[in-house]
Amino acid sequence: MLDVLKIRKDFPILNREVNGKPLVYFDNAATSQTPQHVIDVIVDYYQNYNANIHRGVHTLSQEATDKYEQARAIIQKHFNAAKAHEIILTSGTTHSINIVANGFSSLLEKGDEILVSALEHHSNIVPWQMLCERTGAILKVIPMNQEGELLMDVYDELLSDKTKLVFCNHISNALGTINPIEEIIDKAHKVGAAVLIDGAQAAPHVKADMQALDVDFYTISAHKVCGPTGAGMLYGKEEWLNKLPPYQGGGEMIAEVTFEKTTYADLPHKFEAGTPNICGGIAFGAALDYMNAIGFDEIESYENELLAYGTAKLLEIEGLKIYGTTANKTSVISFNIEGVHPYDMGSILDKLGVAVRTGHHCAQPIMDFFKIPGTVRASFSFYNTKEEIDTLVDGVRTAMKMLS
Ligand SMILES: *Cc1c(COP(=O)(O)O)cnc(C)c1O
Repeated sequence: MLDVLKIRKDFPILNREVNGKPLVYFDNAATSQTPQHVIDVIVDYYQNYNANIHRGVHTLSQEATDKYEQARAIIQKHFNAAKAHEIILTSGTTHSINIVANGFSSLLEKGDEILVSALEHHSNIVPWQMLCERTGAILKVIPMNQEGELLMDVYDELLSDKTKLVFCNHISNALGTINPIEEIIDKAHKVGAAVLIDGAQAAPHVKADMQALDVDFYTISAHKVCGPTGAGMLYGKEEWLNKLPPYQGGGEMIAEVTFEKTTYADLPHKFEAGTPNICGGIAFGAALDYMNAIGFDEIESYENELLAYGTAKLLEIEGLKIYGTTANKTSVISFNIEGVHPYDMGSILDKLGVAVRTGHHCAQPIMDFFKIPGTVRASFSFYNTKEEIDTLVDGVRTAMKMLS
């Protein structure tokens, strides 16, 4: 059992007030809050061993290098990657996806096909469209149904020997749907296609096992798992990372440079040009350590409890519709109320101290599918409580009275 009151003490920000009311933070799908343990690691870095890493002979540089590489090892262990150099430290999911999309420019030919799911975040749509423009490859979409589930029989029909890449998020940030990624990966491999799974929204809720999934690429952002912004991971199978050309040129990613020719460094450095977010990478590792100490099984079952409670309470409100109603979902509730614009609802909730997100959640195609401009999205983390959900529900009722 998870001791939520004890856990809340780890997060200083949860003590603050917003507009004179205690903060209720339900925007976890956009970014998570940072525990004191991680804040301490960040302060410790700048107070005690701030230095540029790799190649340094002095003590500070060596200490920073050791900690940075320890963080890579923590991340490797967490995701059960076979090799440490399969973990590329990036600035986040968007950066990670762009490394792969750029790399495939040289591997695709005109007429090759790329499949993406209808549930994607813009960061998992736009880079592929750009890739198609560069290569003449064709983007095809795996559609979804009214519950927010992918139509797997259509996926079967779309797959062919022309399919070179499949992209799908593990969990949808807009609806909370958990996608059947095992099946998606398996079937893609049968036609020889590579698979990139965007794990940005899954990472705070479930622990993904790279070797068990047999996935080719997996991406996450540290700021969604209690870590800082500007840090993240691209996991790639060694054979794929060796095939892809580097994304950026610069220091750190080279073996030898002359004006005639440059040879690239080995993995992971080939994809880590320039001075990285050293402190961010170290804090990313510390954040995963923090969450693992609580336990992902405990986190998952507690968040499911919050999801069930929140769903039941919100559905008691007349005229409220939830988008994303599959049984297989995580603690994200996207909803609208008849006749109320999501933005107006969000603004009133903010006056009451409740932070939710409103709009299209970087997933406009999903909103177009439901023919709505956007939703109000409440996303719960393991540090939230049922009492906070009651505050949200009361707030929604208050807002409805004010707006009617
Ligand atoms: C947050 C998120 C992203 C984008 O992550 P960045 O940190 O902005 O790069 C991509 N996909 C999903 C599913 C997300 O939830």
